[in-house]
This record gives sequence, C-alpha cells and structure tokens, in this order.
Amino acid sequence: MEKKQFQAESKRLLEMMINSIYSQKEIFLRELISNSSDAIDKIYYRALTDDTLTFNKEGYYIKVAADKASRTLTITDTGIGMTKEELENNLGIIAKSGSLAFKTENESKDGHDIIGQFGVGFYSAFMVADTVTVLTKPIGSEEAYLWKSGGADGYTIETAEKDSVGTEIVLTIKENTEDDSYDEYLDEFRLKSIIKKYSDFIRYPIKMDSTES
Ligand code: ADP
Ligand code: MG
Repeated sequence: MEKKQFQAESKRLLEMMINSIYSQKEIFLRELISNSSDAIDKIYYRALTDDTLTFNKEGYYIKVAADKASRTLTITDTGIGMTKEELENNLGIIAKSGSLAFKTENESKDGHDIIGQFGVGFYSAFMVADTVTVLTKPIGSEEAYLWKSGGADGYTIETAEKDSVGTEIVLTIKENTEDDSYDEYLDEFRLKSIIKKYSDFIRYPIKMDSTES
C-alpha cells in the first residue's frame, strides 16, 4: 500500500505554536541567539577547509540592540548569512529544522529543548513581535535580501543592500495589553538577564547596544 505523508497547515501550526507550545515568551531571544551562533559556527567550519577564508575570532559576534522609540529589538550576527533559496527553505517551511541533524548530542533531552528539536525556533519571535524582518547577506555574494513577515499571513522577500556578510533580524515588539507586558523586551537590564539565563554558554561575544529615549 502506498504510504502518504501528513500535510501540515502552516498557518494553523504557527498560530498554535505561538499560543501554546511556548510557555515562556522570553525564550525567543535564546532561539535567535542560538541561530546566530550556529551561523557563525558555519563560517568557522568552512574556514577550516577553505584556504581562501580565515576565521579571525575578533570579527565574529552577536549584537542585541533595543530601541524603545521605534519599539524594535535587533539581533545582528556576522555569521554565514542566507541565500534567497535558503531564506525560502529555512524560514518559509515551518518546523523544518535545518540544524536538527547537527545538534543531537548537545541538546538536553529533558523536554526543555523540545522547541529547538522541532526546528520552530525562529518563529518564536512572533510571540513578542508583530512583524519580523530578516536582512541577510550570504557569504560569497554581492546581493543581500530582505525577508519580511507579520506572522501567519505569510512573508515577502526582496533584494536589498547590506555592507557585510551576516544577518540582521529586526523585531517590532508588540504593544502591551491588559494581560501581557512586552515593554520588558526593550529593556536593557531585562534583556541582559535573559541572555545570562539562557545564552551564557554561547562561545561568541554577545554585545548589548541600547538606545535610550
Ligand atoms: P533550527 O535552528 O532548529 O534549524 P530555526 O527555526 O531556529 O530552526 O531556524 C531555521 C533555519 O533558519 C536555521 O537552520 C538556519 O538555516 C536559518 N537561520 C535562522 N537564523 C539564521 C541566522 N541568523 N543566520 C543564518 N541562518 C539562519
Ligand atoms: Mg534554531
């Protein structure tokens, strides 16, 4: 008998995930920082086998910058970036983990890392953000791309300008509601404590840059 594959309805899946899988909103930052760290790892591994590349540790970092006036939180990395195809494949297919195969031994098996294992890490940004943009320039390319999404309603990709290789993710943080506070994700001290709690082991520097207003 022919075996058929289940089909997932991305919109429903995304809504369900945003509303129920994640109990703590703050873990979105861990997910984005871990993606940035993975992207820097990829440059590092490539440099090991590619003589034209040198990995100078000083040039590689992750930066977290909050701007209260524009309600934006920006996570920048000097990682490998994404091609247009990679944007489509990695950020266009929910729950398809690109790095799942590479990180079996490091992940804890106690259930806390279940999100990472399902490969839905990136989308956790929509727990705290109305819109997410990803500006990325892949290694070895002159072109950069801007991916933009308001969540369940889909995404757009256009060509863009970016000076250096790497990725810049901008979250437009939700307004506070009666039940939920989001302002805290624009607060430098709160962000620092989230980083300390979940991302202390990251082996690249995590810089903080906040604009007070
Ligand atoms: P996972 O990390 O488990 O693969 P995610 O949803 O967190 O799942 O990320 C999906 C994919 O998107 C990653 O595997 C990676 O290929 C790509 N990606 C996400 N963030 C970045 C980034 N900052 N730089 C480069 N690629 C990224
Ligand atoms: Mg991830």
